[in-house]
Amino acid sequence: MTDDKYKHRYYYKEDYTSAIGTFATGIVFLFVAILSLFFRTYNVEFIGLASWGYWLFIPAFFIFIGGFTQFYRNYKYQQVVKNALVQRNFEGTHKLEHIALEIGMKPKDILRVLLDLRRKGVVKYSFSSESGEIKLSQEIAYSPAIEYVPPTKKESGPLPREGKNYCVYCGHQIEIMGTFCPNCGSKL
Ligand SMILES: [Zn+2]
Repeated sequence: MTDDKYKHRYYYKEDYTSAIGTFATGIVFLFVAILSLFFRTYNVEFIGLASWGYWLFIPAFFIFIGGFTQFYRNYKYQQVVKNALVQRNFEGTHKLEHIALEIGMKPKDILRVLLDLRRKGVVKYSFSSESGEIKLSQEIAYSPAIEYVPPTKKESGPLPREGKNYCVYCGHQIEIMGTFCPNCGSKL
């Protein structure tokens, strides 16, 4: 192993996002396209679907290609993050930004990958509530507050957190108020 740490001083352009939505869209297109074939066979008249519905196989095909590409990319991202943690023997306290620089992935993407890896039981970690650094092998028991309402997907800017004793992003109960959430690493 040569000392080629930090050689990738650029970030992957593509985001780490769920491929489920893409697949769902593809299934809708595919379903209507197949339905149109049935309508064609049994001479069912519905908005002329029998005559044009089969064209939907084309977008369905490309949507599925997109879904598989995202799926494969997510898998690759998980492997890259896991390798970075293997090199650290899954222990110690690390700055997220260092790992990001080393593997060339945006910190927000690493956070998402880490959440998925933790959910799968691949890694154990929590975040330092003072520095926001990752503490590998330090397990955390996620205990959401009863009042917690998950934020909507498109949040702009930091969420208000006045008078709340839990993380407004993941709902984790926070006993001692620090700067970062020990569960999800969000800045509070
Ligand atoms: Zn949190």
